[in-house]
Amino acid sequence: MNKATPVWGLMAALPEELGDLVHRLQAPTTHRIAGRDFIQGQLQGQTVHAVTARIGKVAAALTATTLIERFGVNHLVFVGVAGGLGQQVRRGDVVVAHELVQHDLSAWPLFPRGEIPLLGKTRLSCDPTLTQALQIAAQEALVGEQRLHSGLIASGDQFIQGHDMAQRIRDHYPDVLAVEMEGAAVAQVCEECGVPFAVLRTISDVADDGAAHDFVAFMRDTAAPLASRVLARLFAG
Ligand code: SAH
Repeated sequence: MNKATPVWGLMAALPEELGDLVHRLQAPTTHRIAGRDFIQGQLQGQTVHAVTARIGKVAAALTATTLIERFGVNHLVFVGVAGGLGQQVRRGDVVVAHELVQHDLSAWPLFPRGEIPLLGKTRLSCDPTLTQALQIAAQEALVGEQRLHSGLIASGDQFIQGHDMAQRIRDHYPDVLAVEMEGAAVAQVCEECGVPFAVLRTISDVADDGAAHDFVAFMRDTAAPLASRVLARLFAG
């Protein structure tokens, strides 16, 4: 983490994924930019900007860039749901990213498959200090059968459902734990802007044929309370 006074950006794709965070911000003020509400407030004495990006890599990149360039965010945390791809990863489990990759990016044969052109990297690493803090907060927030995993998350502009789609990602990235649609875009923005970031995902489905079932109920009943508990602990520490 960098040493500047922390200005936190907390992002999710959809409002439910931020849990009760927005309601807990003190003295909130809202700025509407590019159709998104950027809500600034105080949480445990820290300045926080909370925003929902909407779905997909472009939406996530636009939102992350705005947080950094317009609001001076210097610590960025993304929370949300994802499909489980790792063998041990079950619905309800939690994955904290150590690395992220864009599984749908390929400028082959000009660049190796998956490599971000002219950045020269395929996998982007999360900030170790922020990630460890998020992991500790997540561990304390688990309930029931939930388990915590950490490792590679893949992002792309596709909802992954069905064996063939899921297997294609596993074939390219055998150590992948989860798939979603925003994390690696946020990672690229933060890497290029020099801002530490971390990503946490609750597993809403296992990217099989039933992946879209009960999505809304899962967010409300499992992912939202988990996000609330994690973020409360992250800021209590
Ligand atoms: N059914 C939802 C659409 C969700 S799109 C609706 O009606 O609103 C999926 C969102 O959850 C994305 O933000 C993505 O990051 C995450 N996600 C969860 N499971 C996923 C999967 N199997 N593949 C890709 N993204 C997934």
